[in-house]
Amino acid sequence: MHIQSVRPWLRDEFSFRCVYCLVREQWGKRLGEFDLDHFEPVARSPEASLEYDNLVYSCRACNLRKGKRLVPDPTQALLESALRVHLGGRLSGLNDEARRVIAVMGLNSANLVRRRLTWMRIIDICHKNDPELFASLM
Ligand SMILES: [Zn+2]
Repeated sequence: MHIQSVRPWLRDEFSFRCVYCLVREQWGKRLGEFDLDHFEPVARSPEASLEYDNLVYSCRACNLRKGKRLVPDPTQALLESALRVHLGGRLSGLNDEARRVIAVMGLNSANLVRRRLTWMRIIDICHKNDPELFASLM
């Protein structure tokens, strides 16, 4: 199996957004700017390099940042119940694992907070005024 062959399934499973910073493909990123990240780095676990369950959908920036770092599994740690998105665009974790993913992955960097806030405003405006555009962005 070539891992790119599972890209369509992974994209769908991860709702076309980065598992770490939550940026969606539709928000100005092109397909090629998203990676299939080996959650358990290949360097540490070569045997897991072809396992579907070891793949997460990640934007290029987050994939590069993660590299070989050990991060709690974002599919578990960043569940809606463990995460708050504040009106100003910052994230806070409601448990240790979520806080660790946010810290290690730099999810509250000035750049990401600004970008998140911009998109929250755009989504809010579309939600109220343009349901069709809202649907295409979400
Ligand atoms: Zn990302």
